[in-house]
Amino acid sequence: MAKKQAQSFDVIVIGAGPAGYSSAIRCAQLGLKTACIDSWCDHKGKRSLGGTYLNAGCIASIALLESAKIYHSLKHNLKQHGIQAESVAVDIAQMMQRKNSIVETLSQQIADSFAQHKIDCIQAEAKLLNERQVEITPLNKTASSILEAKHIILASGSSPIDLSCAPIDSEFIIDSTMALNLGAVPKRLAIIGAGVIGLELASIWNRLGAETILLEAQESFLSMTDQQIALEAYRIYSEQGLELRLGTRVIAAKKGNKKVTVEFQDSEGTHALRVDKLIVASGRKPNTENLAAAEADLLLDENGYVHVDENCRTTLPGVYAIGDLTLLGPMIAHKGIEEGLFVAEQIAGIYNPVNYGLLPSVVFTDPEIAWVGQTEQALRAMGEPIKIGTYPLIATARAQAAGQTEGMVKIIAHAETDVLIGVHIIGPQASELIAEAVLAMEFSASSEDLARTIHAHPTLAKALHGAALALKTQR
Ligand code: NAD
Repeated sequence: MAKKQAQSFDVIVIGAGPAGYSSAIRCAQLGLKTACIDSWCDHKGKRSLGGTYLNAGCIASIALLESAKIYHSLKHNLKQHGIQAESVAVDIAQMMQRKNSIVETLSQQIADSFAQHKIDCIQAEAKLLNERQVEITPLNKTASSILEAKHIILASGSSPIDLSCAPIDSEFIIDSTMALNLGAVPKRLAIIGAGVIGLELASIWNRLGAETILLEAQESFLSMTDQQIALEAYRIYSEQGLELRLGTRVIAAKKGNKKVTVEFQDSEGTHALRVDKLIVASGRKPNTENLAAAEADLLLDENGYVHVDENCRTTLPGVYAIGDLTLLGPMIAHKGIEEGLFVAEQIAGIYNPVNYGLLPSVVFTDPEIAWVGQTEQALRAMGEPIKIGTYPLIATARAQAAGQTEGMVKIIAHAETDVLIGVHIIGPQASELIAEAVLAMEFSASSEDLARTIHAHPTLAKALHGAALALKTQR
């Protein structure tokens, strides 16, 4: 019997998270015949494009954080505005419904964009074989088929790391995905890990009224962040009622009597605390376990990350890896998106590399933290000559009018050339404000350029201007 011919494409993208879907769309825009394979199903078992970022990460988290902020504001901030509201209550089911419908809408927009660009969108598990072939197995089926392409882009993302000392039971001990789908506000909640995910989840549930305790093994807080900003964040979060226990390593978690007993060690010995829910947010790992057959010989490091060069090329000809799968830059959605565009354009013969040095980072808490470029501690460690300008948000008329005066802007420039090398913000809308700094740094602006740029008044952006002016006085 003649062997069935494998369906053939210019590009197959494995994974429809931000890295994968943006890459697939760009490939199609550049005239390449493209297929994108993804296996994510929503809570109803329906296909849902967008990966973790959309279904169980950033977007779901931001949607809930917005709801939690409104609730908290109604409960605590209205009186100062001379507004009275009575019987403010939380309807978690409705809140989750709103979040789910935002996710559904955005996921449908990706599906529509795929259809518009004539991308073959296949719901299946994909496995890389050799010779740029991909085996696809539709969900709940055992029969598989083979596709082939001139180029393959691996974008299968990442998933939470399990902790053997706190095994997930999906009811009392849960991971970060489940923590975005709770049916009620826990009375007392502990979170293992005060990284970005732990802090974002804490920000949601604390604002909704849960007594929230973060258990973090490291002695330092937000070590990747400028430490002046991290110190400010620590103070603000603590004042909001978050209990942050640093230098605290969780060693065991046991269920019993509808509670969890969490055992941990700190400098004073071993202790225990009892909570209603325990969230494990101890990091994420790349989804490479079943991504490639042994015969494909895809090179991974000891932690499962795909080995790539600076152009996202794996060791296999014509096979690329992007997003959370590699150690090129942090696990953030916009890094994956940029790499997705970069690889699509490379395939089409255009070379626009990602500027990893200017990737903005954001922690979506309330207030937000955002930064771009280098931290003061890293620059001092390198012995770089620097000068620094800071500006507190309380000094801006807009923050005063909004009643959101916590936070600051910090600008770091080279002491001799005045070129900007780091901008760090904590405060309301820091995620939006940082865009100006990224653009300025992309154009190699100096702090004087920022100081001479006219900023509308009164705006929060005036704090950036204020920090640049503060730096100018040091000239
Ligand atoms: P993380 O590695 O940033 O933080 C996990 C923390 O858990 C670490 O600080 C670690 O010390 C601690 N930990 C581990 N085991 C512990 C134990 N037994 N006891 C106490 N503490 C323990 O990981 P994350 O917060 O899960 O995030 C994963 C990745 O996803 C990161 O790269 C993050 O940047 C990224 N992410 C980014 C965003 C964003 O950009 N807004 C949002 C979500 C996730």
